[in-house]
This record gives sequence, structure tokens and C-alpha cells, in this order.
Amino acid sequence: MAKAPTFDIPAFREDLASPAVVPGAMDHSQPFVASPDHQADLGFPGELVDDWETKAVEKLGELLEKNRALRVYLDSCVKCGACTDKCHYYIGTGDPKNMPVARQDLLRSVYRRNFTLAGKLMPKLVGARDLDKDLLDDWYKYFHQCSQCRRCAVFCPYGIDTAEISMAAREIMDHIGVGQKYCNEIIGKVHKIGNNLGLPKPALINTMEGLEEDVEEETGITVRFPVDVKGADVLLVTPSADFFAEPHVDGLIGYAKVFHQAGISWTVSSYASEAANFAMFIGSYEQMHKVAARIRQAALDLGVKRIVFGECGHAWRVAYSFLNSLAGPWDFLDPKYPKPQHILEVTNGLIKSGAINLDTTANDDKVLTFHDSCNVARGSRMGDVEGGQFIIPREVIKASVNKFVDMDPGTINEKTFCCGGGGGLLTDDLMELRVKGALPRMEALKDVVDNHGVTHMAAICAICKSQFAKVMPYYGFPMDMIISVHQLVGDAILLGTKE
Ligand code: SF4
Ligand code: SF4
Repeated sequence: MAKAPTFDIPAFREDLASPAVVPGAMDHSQPFVASPDHQADLGFPGELVDDWETKAVEKLGELLEKNRALRVYLDSCVKCGACTDKCHYYIGTGDPKNMPVARQDLLRSVYRRNFTLAGKLMPKLVGARDLDKDLLDDWYKYFHQCSQCRRCAVFCPYGIDTAEISMAAREIMDHIGVGQKYCNEIIGKVHKIGNNLGLPKPALINTMEGLEEDVEEETGITVRFPVDVKGADVLLVTPSADFFAEPHVDGLIGYAKVFHQAGISWTVSSYASEAANFAMFIGSYEQMHKVAARIRQAALDLGVKRIVFGECGHAWRVAYSFLNSLAGPWDFLDPKYPKPQHILEVTNGLIKSGAINLDTTANDDKVLTFHDSCNVARGSRMGDVEGGQFIIPREVIKASVNKFVDMDPGTINEKTFCCGGGGGLLTDDLMELRVKGALPRMEALKDVVDNHGVTHMAAICAICKSQFAKVMPYYGFPMDMIISVHQLVGDAILLGTKE
């Protein structure tokens, strides 16, 4: 049961109409600020530094030099309005500062004031302004009301990516001593211990042994859950939520059954026991590199031949798009697998080759739909074919269940809506935002529940799964409606019977 909300739950919209504009509706929403200790763990100042206005502008100048796209994004908006009603946070809150163009303008106004001639000479005419404390407060609030989902960029005729602007703003804020507690605490734990949860090696081993016992008890078959096994073929890098929490852990059991049945030796690493790279959310290349370097080190230490990522959206984006530049080259891996693979690709290949067999009737108590996660749909690819990131998860689900129906076909593409909890916002201090931002997905879910009897929604992202488990009850859906794709696989797989 969801706790009694202290805020209004948005009503499902008639004909999905644009929301009424409610100025200041989310002006009170902001996440906890990082403590000086959490800041220090990442090498950031512990509190707002002296002369922060100047230092923030200098940092913006540095980012503009390093990231040419950022300058293009800040220069090229023509205020056409195409993005205004495309953000789930605007749809769920009506706050005009959650229109993507308005969010961008929080940073763009400072850019114009300091880096354009017109902004220096005629600031009022071109929407340029100095960075002052009021504006910094708005930065902190509204750049933490952006899940960096990139949906608005799909609709912008110039491809302006608000996520990049949001990342830049957060990086500047960290630089002047105003970091976000949730992200920075988590990144610090990965640096110190190796995973977001701060789960030390003995606890990890204990958890994996417990899962081994559970599966043996249930199936009568010993399915290994290896930790730090040198010489294993596969290093599995998975979100640490998979080690303990529902619905994630059933996904991990599914991966283990797949590897077992296909005869693939695998291991997780206690040194790099985290797929998530929250440093992307704060826009810090240095922190991203530090997190990714642990994976490289683990792969080298364990002598693995390939790297497979578990079900995680932004982790897959980082792996697919940035891992090589962050921590490559990966020339020590098997040349057949020079790049990391997503577990969905692996499982799909094994299903197609007949290396694993599935009994779809095992899931006949469920009617499935699937939520496409932003960082997979818009931020990365899967497999060798165009649109593989949409095709492969559906192929795996359809191989595991008999009853599947898609949500609104209009969003089975890069226009998919965000779950509302991505981009470093999956924290209880932002619960109102998370619930309101989930509105478009809850509307799509209600449609397939009402019209097709859907009982479960599958996802391949740890953040989406955690977010939906938490917000679904606010909309009248049970929290266990959200399910890992690999739970479906794990429940359907025929262990010990290969044809
Ligand atoms: S990136 Fe996503 S959350 Fe951010 S403004 Fe665009 S649509 Fe909204
Ligand atoms: S769609 Fe693009 S150009 Fe148009 S207002 Fe939005 S950001 Fe600016």
C-alpha cells in the first residue's frame, strides 16, 4: 500500500490533453543537498564557495570549450514551442518551468549574458541575466526535475538535448559546492566499495549463496551464482539492486539459469559489483571514468573473455556509448565479443540458436506489456539491426509468455515516455515529482489493463522497476505488477532438458 500522499495525485487526462499551466506548482520541490562529506568523497567543495557566481560562469566557459554540442544547444533554440508539452514532468505538474525550453533557459540566460555579444550589450532584449542566488535556487530545483530522458529532443526540430543542458548545470553546481545528496552519496559508495548499495564482499557472497540455495530448493538443480571466479568466460556487471530487492532479484535468478542452461561460465566481481554509473547524471566525465575503470580492472583481474551487462537502462547507455572512451581499449577480451553485450542480446541469441528452451505456459497466469526505458530506447542500441533495442526485448518476452500486448503503439519507439524516476531522481525526497512524472506511463498502462486485461508490466531497467514498484500504488495498481524480463525467462526456462 502506498503511504497517504501529502500531494494531489494527477487525474488521468481526457484525450491526453495538454495540462493546464500552474505557475510555481513545483517550486517547493528539491532533493536533499549533499553533505560536505559526500561532496569531499568526489573531490567537490563541501559548501557554496566564495565568489561562486564567477566560478560558476568560469566552469560554464570550460564546459563550452569541451562540449561543442552544449554551445550549439544553447545557441540554436528558436522558441518554436514544439517541446513544451513533451516532458512528463510538465504533463504531470503543469509547472511551466518544467517545459523543456523553460528548463533550458535557466542555463541559456546565463550563457547569453556572459558568452554572447547581444547578451552583454542588451541583456533584457535577449533574455540574458546574471546568475544570482534566486536563479541558482531555480537551477537546483528544476535541473533536479529533469530525468535526462531526452524525450523532448526527439520533438525538437533542432535536436536540442535538454539532458545535456541539465547535466552541465548539475556539473557546475557540484563545482561550486551544491551537489545532490542521492547521486553523490551513491557514487562515493561505488568508489569505496564497488556498488551503489555499499554491499561489501562477504555480504555479496552470502547473498549469492542464498540465491543458489533458493533455486536448488525450488528446482532440485544446482545453478551456480559465482563471485570472483578467475577464468570465467563472462563477467556479469549488473545493477546492485539485482542482488537483493524485488522485482530485480528474480531477474538475476533468470540470468543465472540462462548461463547455467547454455553452459556459459560466468561470475560477478566483488570489486565492480555495479552496472549503474550515476556519474552520468551529474555530468562528470571524471567520475564516470572512475566508476567505469573498476569494471576494466575487474575484467583484467578475473581474466574474463566477455562482459555482459544486466538489466539496467542508463548502465547500458554508458556501456554502449561511452565505455570504450571511458575505460578502453578492451582488446584483451575475446575478439568475438569486443564490446559489452546486454543480457537481452545474449538470451535472445541463445533462444534463437536453441541453446535454451522455454515453456511459455509457465507464465500463463500473466498478461504482459512492456515499458521501453529511455536510456535504451533513445540513448543506445541493441543487437545488429536498426531498432534492435525495441525488437530484442519483445522477442525475449514473446518467447517466454503466451499473452503479450503492447501499450500505445505510438510510443513503441524513441517517443516512449520516461518512468519518472531516472536521471538521479529515484529518491524519496522527490516522491511527489516521481508520482506526478509517472502520469503518462500510468495512463498507457491503464489503457491496456482496462482493454486487454494486462496483469504485469515488464521492464529492463533497475530504475524503472524501482520507480514503478513505488509509484504504481498511487495510481491504484499493485506494486508487484512490475516484473523483470529475466524473471519471465527464468520462470519459463527448461532446466536440464536440452533438445
Ligand atoms: S530530458 Fe526528459 S525530463 Fe528533461 S526536460 Fe526533456 S523530457 Fe523533460
Ligand atoms: S523544440 Fe527545440 S527549438 Fe523549439 S522551443 Fe523547444 S528547444 Fe527550442
